[in-house]
Amino acid sequence: MSATDVITPSKLKPMPVSQPVELAPKPSLIGLTREEMAAALREKGVADKQIKMRVSQLWNWIYVRGVSDFDAMANVSKDMREMLKTHFTIARPEIVEEQVSNDGTRKWLLRYPPRGAGRPVEVETVYIPEEGRGTLCISSQVGCSLTCSFCHTGTQRLVRNLTAEEILSQLLLARDRLGDFPDREAPQGTVMPAEGRKVSNIVMMGMGEPLYNFDSVKTALLIASDGDGLSLSKRRITLSTSGVVPEIYRTGDEIGVMLAISLHAVRDDLRDMLVPINKKYPLKELMDACRAYPGLSNARRITFEYVMLKGVNDSLEDAKGLIQLLKGVPAKINLIPFNPWPGTNYQCSDWEQIEKFADFINSAGYASPIRTPRGRDILAACGQLKSESERMRKTERLAFEAMMIANHGED
Ligand code: SAH
Ligand code: SF4
Repeated sequence: MSATDVITPSKLKPMPVSQPVELAPKPSLIGLTREEMAAALREKGVADKQIKMRVSQLWNWIYVRGVSDFDAMANVSKDMREMLKTHFTIARPEIVEEQVSNDGTRKWLLRYPPRGAGRPVEVETVYIPEEGRGTLCISSQVGCSLTCSFCHTGTQRLVRNLTAEEILSQLLLARDRLGDFPDREAPQGTVMPAEGRKVSNIVMMGMGEPLYNFDSVKTALLIASDGDGLSLSKRRITLSTSGVVPEIYRTGDEIGVMLAISLHAVRDDLRDMLVPINKKYPLKELMDACRAYPGLSNARRITFEYVMLKGVNDSLEDAKGLIQLLKGVPAKINLIPFNPWPGTNYQCSDWEQIEKFADFINSAGYASPIRTPRGRDILAACGQLKSESERMRKTERLAFEAMMIANHGED
């Protein structure tokens, strides 16, 4: 059996990136706040007294029922649907490729039409099914302007920020592909069931630094958590940052989702090398921002991500430093075995060392799950994402997959 099934739906033929796109696409209604949607409708002549009702109908169709075609909006008059079709879109991005890992992880390469004078861009979104839950890992930028030395995305320049529409449509598309929207024929007033959904959690841990795209990420996450939107509890949404301190304060005040910090080192000299934004916002400032994060308790902890790099940050001295650093902060520690990518000089710590490190942390009272790498064979694991502009050519990918199978077996 091959390690990876690549599914390219035939009706979604890839379009060469260089192909000129004739017309600027119509503006999307996805990712607009209620106020923005009201303004867009008003501008197209919808009467003031209708606006509130129309916005609420549209939100229900778009987010609760997940339609991607105005004609499916049964309780919207034909004239109104024609008007909407003329001026707006609610289409999904194009799926360039869908890959399914042998562990069930799925990765979609999505293409978005150009915004303004730009080119189409591509991003990756990853779905990780687990017992009783499923997590969607969403990208916030195409590439990343930061250059964490162990991260594949960090080797790719920043192409641009994603819009709120593009961030949210990753979630809508995953729900489409996973059959995670309620039956489209269900009666009006249908609400999203709170339990049993395939995408039960989202993490802003794909490509990019979400806090360098604060406004769009905020809008998207507030719609994702809105009871009339995608109704995900804020406790099931986690935003991961490399440590953009001023925006950590704003995240707490204005978004209120769970926070994850890409820590990876407990000394400034080492963190300066691994996560260079540390030079701007060193550990002391980062930890102050974490301590001030609103709503923390034993039940609502900050996750500290710690990638295990052989001979770099994996000594028991580092583990001791970690416990000291986190003193007084309700914290979970996520040990992430380093996921290799072609061209990296780092190696993952030996399993024995990871376990010793984890034991030390456990004995200090922290649960420290070692995150099992998921989707490594399709380069979908943490820090392996990269978009089309620099993604591996097929031959390179096959060689890489062969290497992964040789190293990890096929089970
Ligand atoms: N830019 C944000 C979110 C995306 S990265 C951030 O840095 O927090 C998601 C997580 O994967 C981060 O903790 C990141 O440091 C980690 N990561 C990056 N490259 C990795 C790799 N090669 N192996 C394991 N984890 C990696
Ligand atoms: Fe960017 Fe996060 Fe990768 Fe650092 S770890 S380069 S912030 S995506």
